[in-house]
Amino acid sequence: MKEESPMKNILVFLSLILLFVGGCHHDSGLDHSSDGNIQNASEVNWLSYGNDYTERRFSPLDQINTSNASSLGLDWALDMPDAIQFVSTPLAIDGVLYFSGDRSIVRAVDASTGELLWTFNPEIHKQSPRTIALGWNINRGLAYLNGKLFIGATDGRLIAIDQETGNQVWATETFDPEESKAITGAPRAFKNQVVIGHGGAEYGTRGYVSAYDAETGEQLWRFYTVPGNPAEGFENSSMEMAAETWFGEWWKMGGGGTVWDAITYDKELDQLYIGVGNGDPWDYDLRSDGKGDNLFLGSIVALDPDTGKYLWHYQATPGERWDFKSTQDMILTELEIDGRPRKILMQAHTNGHFYVLDREDGVLLSAEKYAKSTWADYIDLETGKPVLSEEAKYRDGGPSLIWPSPFGSHNWQSMSYSPNTGLVYIPEMQLAGEYSVGPDPEFRDKFLRVNILVDYKEVVENDGTGSLLAWDPAEKKVAWQARHSSFWNGGVLSTAGDVVFQGNGEGYFQAYNALSGELLWEVDAQRGINAAPVSYTVNGKQHIAILVGWGGLSSFGLPVFSRMGWKYKAPGIRLLSFSLSGKEKLPQIDNRRFQFNPAPTGDQKIDENIATQGNAIYHTAGCGVCHGGGVNGAGSGAPDLRESLSNNNYEYFRAVVSDGILLSSGMPQFTDLTENELLAVHQYIRQQTRAASEHTRVFMPDYLDTQ
Ligand code: CA
Repeated sequence: MKEESPMKNILVFLSLILLFVGGCHHDSGLDHSSDGNIQNASEVNWLSYGNDYTERRFSPLDQINTSNASSLGLDWALDMPDAIQFVSTPLAIDGVLYFSGDRSIVRAVDASTGELLWTFNPEIHKQSPRTIALGWNINRGLAYLNGKLFIGATDGRLIAIDQETGNQVWATETFDPEESKAITGAPRAFKNQVVIGHGGAEYGTRGYVSAYDAETGEQLWRFYTVPGNPAEGFENSSMEMAAETWFGEWWKMGGGGTVWDAITYDKELDQLYIGVGNGDPWDYDLRSDGKGDNLFLGSIVALDPDTGKYLWHYQATPGERWDFKSTQDMILTELEIDGRPRKILMQAHTNGHFYVLDREDGVLLSAEKYAKSTWADYIDLETGKPVLSEEAKYRDGGPSLIWPSPFGSHNWQSMSYSPNTGLVYIPEMQLAGEYSVGPDPEFRDKFLRVNILVDYKEVVENDGTGSLLAWDPAEKKVAWQARHSSFWNGGVLSTAGDVVFQGNGEGYFQAYNALSGELLWEVDAQRGINAAPVSYTVNGKQHIAILVGWGGLSSFGLPVFSRMGWKYKAPGIRLLSFSLSGKEKLPQIDNRRFQFNPAPTGDQKIDENIATQGNAIYHTAGCGVCHGGGVNGAGSGAPDLRESLSNNNYEYFRAVVSDGILLSSGMPQFTDLTENELLAVHQYIRQQTRAASEHTRVFMPDYLDTQ
């Protein structure tokens, strides 16, 4: 293996990582009324990922409101010490909460008592021992239809589970053979079908979404998002159209365009909208000779839900080369524009612009900046295209500093729209990315063909932080903004009581006045929150539930994540329920935040040359995706290896990595690494452990460091 400098590898690795926030999702429901509020005979449920088909994440309940939210109390807390992390939205169905977690495990809990009713473990490690952690081992949620729950397992299986028993009803393989990808998103279920996509647009992937019969699992249709090899013929006329916007031999590299999060079913117009991801590889020259719009990358595409046939599209990022994806949630409503009501679709894009489309034909109505974004000067409403800033064309000069970074101004953490206030509540983020093109063709081929380096930078005020941002889509301006010290925060819920709920990376679960942004209530959950809350009734009483568990894309070793100090699998991973009559106290726990206990590395001398080789292997084999770039863990999906006893026990290290003895705990099996490569990685980890041992408490953030 050719030697690379450690910093270069870390940058490449960070670039890779960033990208693959993969997953997909869809909707489900018993009966979704046309205005989107799902009502059951006796209880107000939460039946689909975004509550209803419109994906507003708005609860019609108003028992908890701005005048009494300050007296919210804990009903119960369910500790789940076996779990690693949670980022998902629970479903609430007639007094039972259903939710997915790491390793695609599904649980059912009595919403009155917090009692665990059943657990379904699809044992993904038996299906795909090498790729179980490809999507950071997270899952964002379930779909529901006619007594069945649906999960898209990491390994590519779409699985139907009996709601009552937790037993598998059917399972369908959704991946083409020999493809490296993962599902992390929630399916959507409607009209007796279940729709799912996948993530992995940094692994040589061609994106698609597929629909399956909800009763049998039989595939109904598949829509590819980018064209394949013209020599093999195009699947349909929309692929033929898309191919005219691609150049070179893109099909050899996959093309990307994964649909890993946003899918919205429009019951009113009977249309299905999918949010399409970034290009694969990121390098526009490598992917398409630096020419063409590359449809349907970075687009919202409308499909016929019965056939998967193309209806219309809007492309936000033509010539995509920034990992800017149109995969954020898409909310449906009506808005009066120029004096007449329009049926619209709203998306707070990764690229920092808030897009409003006419969902009857996909025409762009507005696209203002809601966050710090220097990628485009503005979006031309005549052409619908961005007018790129000079910095955004980094491939002509580079390196070039751009806001936002590939994490985006908004990622998969869902936003919420309140028809009461007319405001959209966005989990906003601010961070700069310095982009440059990879150094040489060999390098391009070796590193998963992403070939773009990004250095993440905190340059101006508020960089490296996030916020809860209330956006007025009619006035096209910020209504209010509550700043968080943490960058990576949770999804949002708004209610008819004019309360907005959100958890954040510092571990606080909070309630805000939806109109003013005033903080009404908060509780210290004692662990970072990335999931979104839900609201529902049990015996007619309103409850709010939230999954606590720092996770998902939080483990690259970047300061914005690692400075939070959350430890892998420490106590505090749990499901919490709150109501106005809740009287319980959340017990104080030792969450081990900011603790760092380096393991002994023995007396043996570190071979610096071998360790350097190990650095390259560690990052290219994907170790850092979960364990952190530079072995700098961030407490999410995997342990901090600097604390591992394997530092002083190579036989154990080999048994874990090569023999897969911890597969069922979520550690992949790397049968593709040779003995010398294993030794090199081990040497590198020992080197990093020794370096870190010289400084105790390396997790301590700058602002807390008292040394
Ligand atoms: Ca990506």
